[in-house]
Amino acid sequence: MKPNIKNIAVLTSGGDAPGMNACIRAVVRTGIYNGINMFGVLQGYQGLISNNIIPMDARSVSNIIHLGGTILKTARCLEFKTEEGMELAFQNLKARDIDGLVVIGGDGTFTGAQRFGKKFGIRVIGIPGTIDNDLYGSDFTLGYDTAINTVIEAIDKIRDTADSHDRLFFIEVMGRDSGCIALRSAIASGAEAVLLPEKETSLDELISQLEVGASTKKSSSIVIVSEGHKDGGAYDVAKKVKERFNHYDTKVTILGHLQRGGSPSSFDRILGSRLGFAAINELLKGSTMQMVGLRGNDVKTTSIDEALTRHTFKLESDLLEMTKVLSI
Ligand code: ADP
Repeated sequence: MKPNIKNIAVLTSGGDAPGMNACIRAVVRTGIYNGINMFGVLQGYQGLISNNIIPMDARSVSNIIHLGGTILKTARCLEFKTEEGMELAFQNLKARDIDGLVVIGGDGTFTGAQRFGKKFGIRVIGIPGTIDNDLYGSDFTLGYDTAINTVIEAIDKIRDTADSHDRLFFIEVMGRDSGCIALRSAIASGAEAVLLPEKETSLDELISQLEVGASTKKSSSIVIVSEGHKDGGAYDVAKKVKERFNHYDTKVTILGHLQRGGSPSSFDRILGSRLGFAAINELLKGSTMQMVGLRGNDVKTTSIDEALTRHTFKLESDLLEMTKVLSI
């Protein structure tokens, strides 16, 4: 039986990701279209606790589809991990008769939602929003595609200067436990090598790859290093390689937080719209404790429990193989 839901709140939490605004817009407008009173929670779980909850109408999400970041702001909130914090959050929702919650974020956000939903029985739907693409149950997470586009735009520029000076560049990209950004960026930018947290690549292997390039007259080389690689970040790897391979002038660039920002790609705008639309429809159907995600080209649900516990090895095997073949 369909529940009688009248009031729904939406929040963004944890790391921000491009496409979150497109998603907020879709959540708010799909809710309003269906006669629901919509609320936005500012600063993630912090806003639930401090009662920073505002009504949202269709115009409150006008002209945001193209913006990076999140108009609802986000925060890391330790208090939400405590029983008292959760209780306060629940009371603030109860005072407004809010009976459904949409959370947009990464695995930390989902862990909070899992505990909160189970403890108070409030209906919760999660939307995977993180540039790291590290949640099980969605082939792509919001922000991932835009982050890759940002990385390759930067690498294209570095390639120009690397080539002019015969340089070897080590470029560090985000992904503490996930090499997804690194791998896709490596293919799309034509990098000579990539170091990923999920895959052992010995320095011997890397150096012999660079030696082959140098012996076949490559004028420059680009190595992409995931921040979570076992040999350390790009500075550490560059130092170790330079001690043994000094064919080129060696430089390091850390791309850092610029990877989080920027106008979302068409893919992330459409993904955010699809997942926001689906999240409200799931709540209206009576679903709870589910994540909506993209599998193949379909929006599918996965329980939040499963999304959090299943292993997420998402590196495409053909891309992995290609990194060697296409960089000769
Ligand atoms: P992300 O969602 O991007 O992985 P975080 O790991 O920082 O980001 O998590 C976002 C927020 O989710 C935290 O600041 C906290 O408020 C909440 N959270 C994370 N883990 C838990 C937990 N075990 N219990 C309750 N809330 C949690």
